[in-house]
Amino acid sequence: MAEFNINILGCGSALPTTRHLATSQIVDLRDKLYMIDCGEGTQIQMRNMRIRFGRLNHIFISHLHGDHCFGLPGLISTLGMLGRNGELVIHGPKEVETFMRPVMDLFCRGLEFEVRFNPINTYEHSLVMEDRSLSVYSIPLKHRIPTCGYLFEEKQKEPHIIREMTDFYQVPVRWMQALKQGKDYITSEGEIIPNSRLTRPATPPKRYAFCSDTAYCPSIIPIIEGVDLLYHEATFAECDLPRAKETFHSTARQAAEIARAAHVGKLLIGHYSARYEDVTPLLQEAKAIFPQTMLANERMVLSL
Ligand SMILES: [Zn+2]
Ligand SMILES: [Zn+2]
Repeated sequence: MAEFNINILGCGSALPTTRHLATSQIVDLRDKLYMIDCGEGTQIQMRNMRIRFGRLNHIFISHLHGDHCFGLPGLISTLGMLGRNGELVIHGPKEVETFMRPVMDLFCRGLEFEVRFNPINTYEHSLVMEDRSLSVYSIPLKHRIPTCGYLFEEKQKEPHIIREMTDFYQVPVRWMQALKQGKDYITSEGEIIPNSRLTRPATPPKRYAFCSDTAYCPSIIPIIEGVDLLYHEATFAECDLPRAKETFHSTARQAAEIARAAHVGKLLIGHYSARYEDVTPLLQEAKAIFPQTMLANERMVLSL
């Protein structure tokens, strides 16, 4: 079972190439799936990567540029054909619903499941959704239209019971939940066995930040401070900095500067402009600033 994985379905930018697909990723937290952005063809890429459709209940859209959302109609139609019946929630700027409602009225009549839209304010850093396993927050970005990234924060897990110790002290099963909540065990003779002798702390919760299309935006640094993995767009190389500024995108070097200032564990770059046949110069430019940088690629699976 996956603990906390990031699956890269596509990491190209708007203009199609034979090398990359449009942006989409799937966060897999212990077999619960959360999609981030939905460029064209995600349902095909999910098949390619053997990702189970039934486990997907939430989609997070960063902004209304086609390379981040044109895959929604195809994916929803596929889910309908597969006989889905549980609710699907699409989080994103309010225009996601404006785009999708008429499309669904035309093509997705008789859908057996509910599609719910959760409009979010992309200018605000706030809680977007939470369930038992994680909390998701918006990260306001600076692009040509309202855009936000998403911060996935795993919740604190329960401590592990040390089975040999609970056997040794003959702790009854009904005590196990109390032990997980940090209580000491009191034997029938009244002896107190400290909780630390019976449990082992769970691994610290992990955090993943997805920063979609954006100009250099240092205001995100405090929000993403110390995340285990940061995905940051790096559309351009340094020689194309004027073009990056003009289109509200980042260079690989700028992505690395954000990663360094935010003390992240690792940096993953993507959203490469179609103009680069080879993206190794982008990697080199980023690594010069932040050595723990990786290039995103289709079908890549990263464990946090
Ligand atoms: Zn884009
Ligand atoms: Zn964009």
